[in-house]
Amino acid sequence: MILCTRCSKNAEPLASPPVGGQLGNTIQQSICPECWEAWLNQQAVFINHYGLLMADPDDRKKLREAMKEFLGFSSQ
Ligand SMILES: [Zn+2]
Repeated sequence: MILCTRCSKNAEPLASPPVGGQLGNTIQQSICPECWEAWLNQQAVFINHYGLLMADPDDRKKLREAMKEFLGFSSQ
């Protein structure tokens, strides 16, 4: 079980890191599946709203920053 840093609930962790790199491990250890699901919904809205292209490294960076903020990692 993990203690989710976003909603402060205990939950089973995600089955695998949802994104690559150290950030994925951090998310798996500190974000519950429910909050991750909430981000996936928000991500779709964000991509549509800003017309982000996942082929564009700048847009991917923007999305990553938005994700960190959403999950409460913006200070890291
Ligand atoms: Zn949570």
